Amino acid sequence: MKVYLLDNGTLMLDKSLATWNHNQGIEFRFPVFAIYVDHPDGKIMIDTGFDKEWVDRKLPFEKPTQTAEQTIQAQLAKIGVKPEEIDIVVNSHLHFDHCSNNKLFPQAKFIFSKSELRHAYVPDVWERLGYDRTLVDVPMKSVELLELGDFEYEVVPGITLVETPGHSNGHLSVIIQPGEGHQPMVFPVDVAYTRHNLEDKVLMGLHSDPEDLWRSMVKIENIARRLGGKIFYSHDPEDFATYTLAPGYYGG
Ligand SMILES: [Zn+2]
Repeated sequence: MKVYLLDNGTLMLDKSLATWNHNQGIEFRFPVFAIYVDHPDGKIMIDTGFDKEWVDRKLPFEKPTQTAEQTIQAQLAKIGVKPEEIDIVVNSHLHFDHCSNNKLFPQAKFIFSKSELRHAYVPDVWERLGYDRTLVDVPMKSVELLELGDFEYEVVPGITLVETPGHSNGHLSVIIQPGEGHQPMVFPVDVAYTRHNLEDKVLMGLHSDPEDLWRSMVKIENIARRLGGKIFYSHDPEDFATYTLAPGYYGG
């Protein structure tokens, strides 16, 4: 399999939302990316990024940047893939920067946590910024709603989901094992925006349950250590600059 990281532009938040109770009043600009996997069993998207027009309209203070090249369509086109060819879409969770382009894939089977659907449709009062049901309530060929608990879920051989709540209620992390000779790839997604979050156990200010989030951090670290995996952070400006981006890829 080939694993592509699709550069989707940047967003901006007050830094205290990335480092709980610290760094108020400092701007934190961070990258957003989605993952595309060309797998022998199908073409798979993991998260679908954000839509600049939506952010400009709903959350203009996040000051999105997204060039024409950084839309999900353009990123897929770069590697010769049409949205209608995607077979499976996994959403780690249903915050807008992870699901806003679900609408591009009406022919795909979707996989995400059952509880994320509830929070996307009826967010708790403190999480209204992150969710918007119109981003989720789009045509889908089929949906598989997961309630994993301690179980792991194999999307296809080599791509595994684990439940890692805390940032959001039904949050999933993704482990990709591209096969012989390739280092396993661990995507905590929003268990840790940055290396600093995970390595120093600094919780993000944005969370649904801080104790769950801390446990999810330990869980991901244990998985990465056990597998000898490389951890890819979801919103880390420094680490992101070192990643191989599409049309380059991991695995092979
Ligand atoms: Zn995110």
